[in-house]
Amino acid sequence: MVDLVLRRARIDDAAAPVDIAVAGGVITEIGPELPSPGIDEIDCAGRVVIPGLIESHLHLDKALLDDERPNRDGTLAGAISVTAELKRGFTVASIRDRARRVLDLAIGNGTSVIRAHPDVDPIVGLRGVEALLELREEYRGRLDLQIVAFPQEGIIQAPGTLDLLRESLMRGADVLGGCSYNERDVADCRRHIDQIFDLAAEFDVPLDIHADFADDATDPRFAMADYIAEVTERTGRQGRVTLGHMTSLAGQDPARRAATLTRLAAAGIAVVPLPATDMHLGGRADTANIRRGIAPVRELWAAGITTAYSSNNIRNAFTPYGNADLLDIGLFLAQTCHLSGPEDLGRVLAMATTGAARVIGLDRYGLHPGAPADLVVLSCHRLSDVLLDRPDRCYVLKAGRIVARTTRIRELLPAVPA
Ligand SMILES: [Zn+2]
Repeated sequence: MVDLVLRRARIDDAAAPVDIAVAGGVITEIGPELPSPGIDEIDCAGRVVIPGLIESHLHLDKALLDDERPNRDGTLAGAISVTAELKRGFTVASIRDRARRVLDLAIGNGTSVIRAHPDVDPIVGLRGVEALLELREEYRGRLDLQIVAFPQEGIIQAPGTLDLLRESLMRGADVLGGCSYNERDVADCRRHIDQIFDLAAEFDVPLDIHADFADDATDPRFAMADYIAEVTERTGRQGRVTLGHMTSLAGQDPARRAATLTRLAAAGIAVVPLPATDMHLGGRADTANIRRGIAPVRELWAAGITTAYSSNNIRNAFTPYGNADLLDIGLFLAQTCHLSGPEDLGRVLAMATTGAARVIGLDRYGLHPGAPADLVVLSCHRLSDVLLDRPDRCYVLKAGRIVARTTRIRELLPAVPA
């Protein structure tokens, strides 16, 4: 007798449905018509089951601020300045309350793990980190939270930040962030990068860096990817560095871009496009043929780069949209990157599951015996329909326990007789 069996789950469009047995919070067996009964059973009846979705890059501390103060000009500079003003009034409790609303949405939408990037700087201090450390405990058993200490205001131009980052890691942040583009010149961008690599080595934590944000490649502060690859290799941190956005790749000429992608792949650096933000803040100076400014996903795949996508922001000055729903973001990425058909859409979906698991360094994850039973039962019957349908998340399981359930009834009514 096992704890739970999911019967007739569709995990492969080309094969018959299977049963998934769970014991002790872990998948123990997957196969057709498993004989072992479960204490509990869910009949999936051919519905799709996927591993829990992963937000590999989310600013929970700055979520849901758009009601308080929107970003009127819609630019990156506007978003940073509006948010810097709002941050002065943040308390641990106010951050926690907004973040909780997003976490609850995310769980209901099938998300099992979030890597969150709270700001750490002289304006907000450690309040974001403190709020998320509390939530990491509060949500244990429903959702796993990784915390990235993130210097949104820069390090060199915001004195005191490096000490706050160190303090964050001492208090339990899991990952060190960077925001190298938010420095005054290229020399300071390099110093920023050097300092975070030193600090990451001191605490032996992964790095997750906002290395650029531009829809062209003319500002050299946004072209630090090659330097980051060089430092990654020199310091032996291959496989433990992630770059978010990378919008400026889209503005490089193809030969230069190919060289950069080869460098990133060789250094084992992951890339996480954040299309909702990238599209909203990008192209603001264009008056015709407004550019998309999203990292070229198909080229990232072809280069063999570990790639995920994520929501980044929910309803704030950087992204005034969002429901913490990774299927919505996946469809948006597909639409904006010319990705279509079952093969492409399958790869896009995998960016929010197995790809994101690699990005955030999960050793045990997926649909196989030994992986945690973080599972989502969807209301559709083909994997290739998941992003197109954005189906109901009928059951969301964390370590084998149901943590959210959705039931929806739609009725089509006959016409009223004339
Ligand atoms: Zn971000």
